Amino acid sequence: MIKKTDENISLPMVVDVPYEFAAGRYLTHALTELRDEGKLLAVKCPQCQRIQLPPRIVCAECHVVNEEWVEMPMEGALKAFTINYLPMTDPTTGKVKEPPCILGDMRFDGTNIGLDFPVNIEPDMNKLWVGMRCRVVMKPDGQRTGDLSDIMYLEPLPGQTKPGTKT
Ligand SMILES: [Zn+2]
Repeated sequence: MIKKTDENISLPMVVDVPYEFAAGRYLTHALTELRDEGKLLAVKCPQCQRIQLPPRIVCAECHVVNEEWVEMPMEGALKAFTINYLPMTDPTTGKVKEPPCILGDMRFDGTNIGLDFPVNIEPDMNKLWVGMRCRVVMKPDGQRTGDLSDIMYLEPLPGQTKPGTKT
């Protein structure tokens, strides 16, 4: 007979699962441009004009071949953000990011495409707001490797003041 208890025992376990996948022709082109030129490339659907980032060969809505490449603007506005007070594992590096850190959802100018990335600013609600202008900061030339870690963070554009703040 099993003794009734509220105790739950956890067993430590380390799971190491190395994994790689073929990026394919479109994503390889975009990652090569990211690494070599520091550009973020997307594709534009010839039918619905929707921009897709990461780029895909076929529009997910129209099922037509995307052949037009567009360079994403490196600036946009924060649509949302969160301040994270818990240690978080960076999925692109496996390294732990020490809290607090800010994760922001920036919409690229002129698009409906968002980029969710850390925002390099102190976690002060007086210095953060939805609509804050930001830019994408890449690793310098020669240090990029052709993956998402080439994007270091989002950075607020200088000279902004939170709306409603007295200067
Ligand atoms: Zn489409």
